[in-house]
Amino acid sequence: MAKIHYLSIPALENVSALRHAFTTRQSGLGARINGIKRPGDWNSIAEVFGIDPDRLITVNQVHGDTIVEVGEDPPAAAQLRQAQADAIITNIPGIAIGVETADCVPILLYDPGAGAIAAVHAGWKSTLKRIVQKAAIRMRDVYGSDPHEMIAAIGPAIGPECYEVDETVMGPARSEFPLWKKASSPREHGRWSLDLVCLNRFQLADTGLASKNIHALGLCTSCRSDLFYSFRAEGRTGRMLSVIMLKP
Ligand SMILES: [Zn+2]
Repeated sequence: MAKIHYLSIPALENVSALRHAFTTRQSGLGARINGIKRPGDWNSIAEVFGIDPDRLITVNQVHGDTIVEVGEDPPAAAQLRQAQADAIITNIPGIAIGVETADCVPILLYDPGAGAIAAVHAGWKSTLKRIVQKAAIRMRDVYGSDPHEMIAAIGPAIGPECYEVDETVMGPARSEFPLWKKASSPREHGRWSLDLVCLNRFQLADTGLASKNIHALGLCTSCRSDLFYSFRAEGRTGRMLSVIMLKP
């Protein structure tokens, strides 16, 4: 088995009930051929987690705000992979849930009280739809999670220095986030640098997470092309997996 290179966040690594990983592009993991996903891409991660590949759940990400709940008796992984959604939640041990990104913001949530987790894919569209906030609220509604106790881990994402947007994105961002000035800076020709991680931090704070419980890798996918795929930097490219599991 090839060595799997992945990154982790100490605040989650220290939780004995959990496994999580942010994969990198090293060893070609997550590479795509002509933009096409290769089946069985994440089998090596399932192996590292000690689970059957069918217990590693991803969905068909569509930049919306739909959240999939994975229960005791999950539909087949193949069926879930067709589900159009951008966040997954579960409280079932031994089921890994993951999102695939290459610039968009991946966020893992853990609620130690209720024993529940989430994996969230937040590109700019889903960020503006407050998907991470909706996922945390869904965990509260479904599992009785207390957002004040939750831990959030934000994986590799495009940094503001590399993420320039126009009014199409900035207009809605201003209306949605009262603190938008803290997450952006003007550039020339009516364009802006935008900090998507910051916009997601706002939502986590709005939901009740303590700032000490919000952690980020702080690595830019575009700057760190040695570690990550970047859609902005490369166009058609591979994906990283951000994945979390309650240990069985
Ligand atoms: Zn960068």
